[in-house]
Amino acid sequence: MSITLENVSYIYEPDMPSPVRAVDAVSLELPENQFIGIIGHTGSGKSTLIQLFNGLMKPTSGTVRYNGRDVWEKDYPIRELRFHVGLVFQYPEHQLFEETVFRDICFGPRNQGLPEEEVEKRARKAMAMTGLSPDLENRSPFELSGGQKRRTAIAGVLAMNPDFLVLDEPTAGLDPQGRDEILEQVSSLRKESGITVILVSHSMEDVARFADRLIVVDAGRIRFDASPREVFSRHRDALEAMGLAVPQITDLAARLRKSGFPVPADLITVGEAKEAILRVLKGGRDQ
Ligand code: ADP
Ligand code: MG
Repeated sequence: MSITLENVSYIYEPDMPSPVRAVDAVSLELPENQFIGIIGHTGSGKSTLIQLFNGLMKPTSGTVRYNGRDVWEKDYPIRELRFHVGLVFQYPEHQLFEETVFRDICFGPRNQGLPEEEVEKRARKAMAMTGLSPDLENRSPFELSGGQKRRTAIAGVLAMNPDFLVLDEPTAGLDPQGRDEILEQVSSLRKESGITVILVSHSMEDVARFADRLIVVDAGRIRFDASPREVFSRHRDALEAMGLAVPQITDLAARLRKSGFPVPADLITVGEAKEAILRVLKGGRDQ
């Protein structure tokens, strides 16, 4: 399973006096079984880019392939691509519209033309995967908490059994606990099923913790595409120039090093920083 972009550009209002080149000559290979983070300043082109992945937007130039096949070829079943590459928009709760949570989650698989029994089986599984209690099945989506609404929207996409799950800032506006729970669930889902998760995020902490590959977008272009550790430890100044920061803990580790504490320069999560600092403290006591 793979999504490939070859020299893809997307221009809004190409015929206007000042067209916006939102995606600019991007080439990318997105294979299966990765957790990919996408970061970039507001307006850098992230949301446009991900809508090219599932055929919601047609590139102005360049080629988008799914499993090697050009998805804008005349005979390509583009509707089906949207089942393979599931996209959860930012504030997806705005897209909830059915009378009950269960009906909302069934909407996608029903649209796929699956038998009713299979539709319901998938909806129940998706609810379990996103941590939605079966008690909620008959509730109105509008009565749910923010986190539950978000989960319902994610479950609706998962019920289509996609190979790629693309989430556009899925935790924006949630409290820290709700945010962690959703990301933990998505992360274990990926480990269990081998689905590729593509997470657009404003949080450096979140991508450092969960992503094994980090794509940095700036002015419609890909500036970096490497492990979060490499991006944050090597490109701090370039990130700052783009209006992005490294995780706070990476910053703290750099200060500690400057003050003479021998902690590694490439710490990116609180967990590993804690271990490194404890090692230094213990070393100090032993000497
Ligand atoms: P991001 O998700 O990183 O904030 P977007 O993909 O939403 O970035 O936007 C990229 C650029 O395209 C921005 O300059 C934005 O103003 C512009 N843009 C987005 N949507 C439209 C639109 N519908 N019409 C014109 N310009 C747009
Ligand atoms: Mg966006």
